[in-house]
Amino acid sequence: MIPAVTLNNGAKMPIVGLGTWRADPGKVTEAVKEAISVGYRHIDGAYVYQNEQEVGAGVRAMIDQGVVKREDLFIVSKLWCTFHLPSLVRGACEKTLSDLKLDYLDLYLMHFPIGTKPGDDIFPVDEHGQVISDGSNFLDTWEVMEQLVDAGLVKAIGISNFNKDQIDAVLNKPGLKYKPVTNQIECHPYLTQEKLINYCHSKGISVTAYSPLGSPDRPWASSDEPSLLEEPKIKAIAEKYNKTPAQVLIRFHIQRNVIVIAKSITPHRIKENFQLFDFELSEEDMKTLLSLNKNWRGFTMHWASKHKDFPLNTEY
Ligand code: NDP
Repeated sequence: MIPAVTLNNGAKMPIVGLGTWRADPGKVTEAVKEAISVGYRHIDGAYVYQNEQEVGAGVRAMIDQGVVKREDLFIVSKLWCTFHLPSLVRGACEKTLSDLKLDYLDLYLMHFPIGTKPGDDIFPVDEHGQVISDGSNFLDTWEVMEQLVDAGLVKAIGISNFNKDQIDAVLNKPGLKYKPVTNQIECHPYLTQEKLINYCHSKGISVTAYSPLGSPDRPWASSDEPSLLEEPKIKAIAEKYNKTPAQVLIRFHIQRNVIVIAKSITPHRIKENFQLFDFELSEEDMKTLLSLNKNWRGFTMHWASKHKDFPLNTEY
């Protein structure tokens, strides 16, 4: 059994999942199949990754081969920013389900608190490179997401890239029917997110860590930025346990009771990133990892810095 985090709706979410952002559509079907065959049961996807048909094909193949049943899997997708207007939410979810060829999602996240102009352009920007708002209020979007649970399209709903004030706004929404079950945020030893994690946990909201390896393949990476996988202190800890830096970086979250989703399309790394349950980082090593915090972000969301709901302009 893979350790799981119990969500505030009672469901169990496997603590380790496979990320699929920038997972090439030509390779992600095999990656998903490999992941499920080595034991992953949680797959993290999104409409905006533009590979949901191929992710779904991998899932379907493993169900058809009898390797897993649908109910053994925890499939996550995300509502993209151009679908925040309440009239667009259900259609967006149905499109994801039809691409994945699934009847329901285990979890549907609001990808960002940021609603942007609807249309075919995934990143509608103005002449300054700033996203164009759709004027929506994420609380209204949330209300329609709640209806997806009642309609049986999704088992649970959550948020991603929300700050404390935005979480509070959801929790204090008059008539709130379902609390978010998780907040998916960037988190790793350079961005340890202690305050936001403590806050979420204190409200019964789990945290999912994205870019646990520092997202080395993010397209805007530059060579002068720090690299978690090359960090000497992380390498030294890895050597001590006879593990790889990636395994230490992923295990770090498990010991904080934080769900973690590393992405790989490389079979040996997919396997490596799941071999996490035969060692435990000492308290001292956890402290060393936490001490590397420098509030560095791979995702600065600069494209939304002028949007009314930009999440990164508060302390946490
Ligand atoms: P990660 O930190 O998971 O890094 C992925 C990169 O690391 C890939 O280039 C991968 O290469 C490489 N890699 C994977 N395993 C290893 C290993 N063992 N050793 C060395 N290199 C390795 O970055 P992501 O940004 O992709 O984050 C993970 C997931 O989180 C995403 O895929 C997505 O599902 C989610 N996410 C959510 C966001 C949100 O806004 N909610 C934002 C960003 C990510 P390769 O694939 O070639 O093996």
